[in-house]
This record gives sequence, C-alpha cells and structure tokens, in this order.
Amino acid sequence: MTHDVRGVMKVADRPSTVMVEGHGSWLWDADGKRYLDFVQGWAVNCLGHAPAVIAETLATQARRLINASPAFYNEPMARLAALLADTSGLAEVFPCNSGAEANEGAIKLARKWGARHRDGAFEIVTMEHAFHGRTLATMAASGKPGWDALFEPKVPGFPKIPMGDVDALERVLTPRTVAVMLEPIQGEAGVLPASDEWLRHVRRMTRERGLLMILDEVQTGIGRTGRMYGYEHAGIEPDIITLGKGLGGGVPIAALVAAEAASCFEYGDQGGTFNGNSLMAAVACAVVETVRAPGFLETVTATGRYLTERLERLSADKGHGSVRGRGLLLALALRDRDAPKVARDAMDRGVLINAPRPDTLRFMPALTVTREEIDRMIDVLSASLEHA
Ligand SMILES: *Cc1c(COP(=O)(O)O)cnc(C)c1O
Repeated sequence: MTHDVRGVMKVADRPSTVMVEGHGSWLWDADGKRYLDFVQGWAVNCLGHAPAVIAETLATQARRLINASPAFYNEPMARLAALLADTSGLAEVFPCNSGAEANEGAIKLARKWGARHRDGAFEIVTMEHAFHGRTLATMAASGKPGWDALFEPKVPGFPKIPMGDVDALERVLTPRTVAVMLEPIQGEAGVLPASDEWLRHVRRMTRERGLLMILDEVQTGIGRTGRMYGYEHAGIEPDIITLGKGLGGGVPIAALVAAEAASCFEYGDQGGTFNGNSLMAAVACAVVETVRAPGFLETVTATGRYLTERLERLSADKGHGSVRGRGLLLALALRDRDAPKVARDAMDRGVLINAPRPDTLRFMPALTVTREEIDRMIDVLSASLEHA
C-alpha cells in the first residue's frame, strides 16, 4: 500500500516505509511487515507500543477533561508534580512539551537565578558531544559535531569542556559562570556514560562554588538506566533536572524539575499554551506509577544485564568492541562495520536498531522487553553483522 508523503517536510532521511500500528515491542508498516523495535521512538515508548495503561488513561481522561487552560491548576498536573517531586527529591515541577523545551526552561531558570544570586552570572558550562535539543539555545548548549556553523548567530554563554576533564572544568570557570549542565549518559553521542566519579566531582565543585548543577535526564530518566533517574547511580542530588522522552511513554510531555532554592521564576517568566494539560499529564502520571511499582526497576536492571551479556557474547564471537551504557540504554562498538548499514540490513530483516555513530549501534528497547525478544534481536543482528 502506498501513501503520499510529499507533504511531509523533509527534515530527516526516512525510509519510504509508513508505520501504521504498534503493540509492545512490535511495529507494523502499511504493507503488513512487522518489526521488532529496539529503538522505540528513541527511548520514548518505555512501556512499548500502545500499552493498555496509556490507551485507557487517554480514553478516561479525554472524557473527563483534556485542557482546563494554563491559567488554572488541574488535577493530573498537580498529581504529576507531586509524583516527580516525590521520586526525585526536588521540589517544584514545570510541565512542558518536549525535552528541548524543558532544557530551554532550565537554561532560563539558571540565568534568572544568576541574575538574582550571582550578580548577573549567566554562563552554563556544557560538555562536548552533548545533546540538549534543537531550539536555538539548546543547540548552542549542545556539543554535537557539525552544529557549530548552523543557524548563526549562536546564543552565547555555553562554554564547552570534554566530559570527565576536571582541569578543563576548573579552567573554564569565570565570575560569569552560573551552572554546569550535562547528561548522566550522552545518548545521542552514542551512549557515552559520565562516570559516577565525574558526576560526584561536578556536584562537589558546584556546591563549593555556589553554582547550579543541571542534569539533562531526558533520555536517562524514568527508569531507562534501571533506576528512576540516572543520577541515583552516583548517589548525588542535582539542583535541576529535565525530563522528556520516557516520561510520556509516547505522548508529548516533558518536565523541568527544580530544587526549592533554585526554583526562582516569577510570574510571567515561563509558560506555554499546552503546558500541564490534563490529558498528557494524566498519561505521565500513569507511566511514572507503572515504572515505580514494586519490582519494575529490578526487572529493567535484570533485563539490561541479560541484553548486555548477549551483546558481549555476540561481540566476542564476531570480534567487535565493548558494550557501553546502563540498564536498557546500551551501545555496541563495531569494528570494520558501518553501523548505519548494519541497522538498514537489520530493518530489512525486521529488526529496528539505531546507529548514532558510524561505529556504534544503540539499543533502547521498551523497558518491558522480554528475553525471547532479546534473543530474537540478537539472532537477526548476528546475521546483519555477517552480511551488511
Ligand atoms: C532527545 C533529547 C533531548 C531533546 O528532546 P526533544 O523532545 O527531542 O526536544 C534533549 N536532551 C537529551 C539528552 C535527549 O536525549
């Protein structure tokens, strides 16, 4: 069956395939071909495709209240704020619509805080290879190779350092520095984890100097690494976190979460038409409740360990590199293979895998993925590594 896709703006190199249906780890295209999905919308569909809990929450909430207006509190908005505050240990939540918008909000909040408490300091130190989104400010905060020359002029105020470089961090600080912003695991860069020691160092240093620590948990948050938030592995508490992707399990919702001392927006500083609407907030509540239910994260950890073992065994058999990442955000380093080509071959064979770099495959299946599905993916990947 063909669909006319000419009206869709060409912002990505998509295959001609048109997807029509998804359930759990499986996605179907318009020709009825099915795919085992280890991408899940880039770690978004944390409960798999069309999970009953989201379908039912959407239906129930849609009949009750979709959007009261950003001028009012609404019940799911309040419930979501309480849930995120409770699970993170932070105090206040600004719900929004995308990871980039959450990060844009974090940048504004840090600048506001700098204006109030740090004599107008506004610089936010970010990491090389970071990915924080596609608005002008979040692109400037990102350290994605190739983005340097795009959409000039840049939003200023984002000096970059290599992740893990203690001396570079020391050197980059100025009286204008207000915050350090980083991802617990650099997902888009190819699953490059910040070590727990580095995260603890940044936390110690920012506390000593009176700076804010902002963690972009858009990809790592909501159970992806086997804990509710990626920073829990390092035993630290940041001042500000941002959430997106898995928070909505497939629907567009994100959040900026801040400690009380950092939460300094005044009326009119921040807002948005769709922010905190009941329909999306109700879904996020259902997702967070599911992920924090007893046993869920233990299963993610065990499944992540199983996927790691299977990838490591495959890699050893075929002479490839190491497996990086945590929980169910994993990457395999390839030797002498073009990762995008391997991913295309796997898609032909009915398995979706992401290739964020020419030498790296990334795996971010549903947190509910089964061992049988992992075994099946490994069989196909094994064939694709032979033939691609
Ligand atoms: C995906 C991602 C973003 C951007 O989120 P959008 O919803 O696409 O705007 C920001 N930061 C990280 C770490 C991400 O993985």
